[in-house]
Order: sequence, then C-alpha cells, then structure tokens
Amino acid sequence: MRLNAEVRAYELDRTGLRTEFDGDLVEVAGQRLTYASPRGTLVIDGTTAEEVDGDVVLALPGGRAAQRLIRATSPHNTFLITERCDQLCLMCSQPPKHHHADLLPFFEAAALLAPAGTTIGISGGEPLLYKAALLPMMQRVLTHRPDLGFHVLSNAQHIDEDDLDPLAGMRDRVLWGIPLYAADAATHDRIVGKSGAFLQLMETLPIFARAGASIELRTVIMRENAALLARLASFVIMHLPFINRWALMQLESIGFGRQNWDRLFFDHSTEFTPIADALNIAKARNVEAVLFNFPRCTVPQPYRDRAPSTISDWKRRYLGECSGCQERDICGGFFEWYPEDRGFQRLARI
Ligand code: SF4
Repeated sequence: MRLNAEVRAYELDRTGLRTEFDGDLVEVAGQRLTYASPRGTLVIDGTTAEEVDGDVVLALPGGRAAQRLIRATSPHNTFLITERCDQLCLMCSQPPKHHHADLLPFFEAAALLAPAGTTIGISGGEPLLYKAALLPMMQRVLTHRPDLGFHVLSNAQHIDEDDLDPLAGMRDRVLWGIPLYAADAATHDRIVGKSGAFLQLMETLPIFARAGASIELRTVIMRENAALLARLASFVIMHLPFINRWALMQLESIGFGRQNWDRLFFDHSTEFTPIADALNIAKARNVEAVLFNFPRCTVPQPYRDRAPSTISDWKRRYLGECSGCQERDICGGFFEWYPEDRGFQRLARI
C-alpha cells in the first residue's frame, strides 16, 4: 500500500499513477492514522502523516505490523531479497540464515510505486541465489519505470555466460557492488569463508564487464587485509581496469562485524599509510577510489575529499565532538552501533 497524506497530495503525486494500492488518510486521532484503500483499511500508530506520506508499506491482512518497504523521503531504500548466502564473511553485517521467505512479488509492486528517480538497493544474503526470478523482476521494473535504478550488492558468484543479455539490457540503470578483499586467493577466500571464491570472481567479473555493466568494487578494510591494500590496488589497475569505482570501506560493528570487532577493526585514524598508498596507486591510473564509512575527521586532510557521506540516514549518528564541526553537513558521521570505547583513536578538530 502506498500512503497518501491527503487526496489532494496525490494530484501532485511523484509517479503520476494512481493504483489500487493507494491508501488515503481518512482519520487522524493523536498519533493514530487510518488509511483507506480498495484493498482495505490500515491503522498506523505512533507517527505522523507527514512522516509516512508517500511511503510504500507491506501490510498482511490481520497482521499486527506493517513492513515499510519504501520510505519516500529517504535516498536509502533497500530490499532484502534473502537472508541465505553461500559465503560466510568474517565481518558480515547480516549473518546468513537457512530460512528464505520469497517477497519478490511484493518488492516488485513496491518498486513500481516508488517516488520518481529513486535508486533502490538490492541486498541480502546473496540476492543472486534467486537470479532466475530476480533479474526478470528488475528488468520489468526498469521497463515500466524508466526513472528508477538499482544498486545491487552481490558476491557475484552466480553469474554465468547466460546472464550476458539481461546484464547488458540493464547496464545503464544498475550499479553492481561486488566485494574483493585481496589480490591473492588465499586471503580473499579466508575472509569470505568460501574456498574457490576468488577464482570464481575472476571468472564472473569479466562477464559483467563484457555486458557493459557498471561495477563498484568493494573492499572492507580489516587487520586481515590492510597491509595488502597496495598490492590489491596494483591488481585492480592491472586486471580490473573496467570497474567504475573502487570503494574502500570501514568496518560496521554489527552482525559478525560486532562479534569479531576487536580482531578485525583497523584504525586508519592512527595508521593511514596503507590506505593512502592504495588511493595513490589507483589515482595514478585514473581508477576512481573512494572511502566509504570514513568519518571525515579521521582522514588526513589531503584525502578528505575522497570520503563522502555514505552511511544511510537511518543508521547514522554523530558524536559530541561533531557539534560545531564545520564539515558535519558533508560528513556521514558514525554508524548507530559504533563502539566509541573501541573505535578511532584520533579525531582531528575541523
Ligand atoms: S561531523 Fe563528526 S565525524 Fe564528521 S568530521 Fe565532523 S567531528 Fe568528525
């Protein structure tokens, strides 16, 4: 169901389409909102009409909770396609589960109702475990909504030659975020918990490239691989020059990342040299390399312009040190679950 704060707001609707899924606000009682649609009545407690206007929610008949699939005011909307995965990464923020619930038809309906110009995240688990249904679903959405795009996080283990056409058909509208943790198979495979993963990636990345797909290579920096970053940078510029950008990412203290934090966390605020070396090598060969989830005050000034705000709004927070900071508006701050007592040693004053 898509929520409309008032019927008149619909006339200014972002997609210009009214559907059977639209629900109009018919009653407000304090923080209790009642919406009516051809599909039934939905009551939401504890929020305001402005807060949820334009959102797309999944409400099962008789259920006590509605799932917010699209938040209209947020640029960070992600569909969790599955919690299953064939890898077991040391720092996984969403540790895999065996159980799978197929919500793809609901995600497709939600995407079609999304505000204009939205880029929707596709994540897991490993979403391409269900590529037989997922790729056609994405294609249908992109056909019906020429204004939308997808950003897919995938370990890229499940692409083969048969996928060339679908990948090529979506190439201008989909960015594939694909992890690579080291230039050597042993280190990469140990980090992702899967023997043969590195070699498989070397088979599949060229398929994405031949399809003309956009690739965001992703490397989470940990004690396991920090000293190997310069070598990885050389590997990237030599063997993977077709990528669109390389994201060097700080660890997130959630899931396995929280469990293994003390063993994995690499404090770049006190030891930036391996990262600087990697950035410099990439830059020398015109490979765009950026820093994701790096608070700007932890980055030496010459590299600070490589650290955009990347932490999603709903999982971002700022510390006491941030009040009065001149760069707060362009800084992504910290993850909500950042452990202050075991985090960065050095925050520069800005
Ligand atoms: S906003 Fe906070 S985290 Fe970001 S640079 Fe300023 S002090 Fe550092």
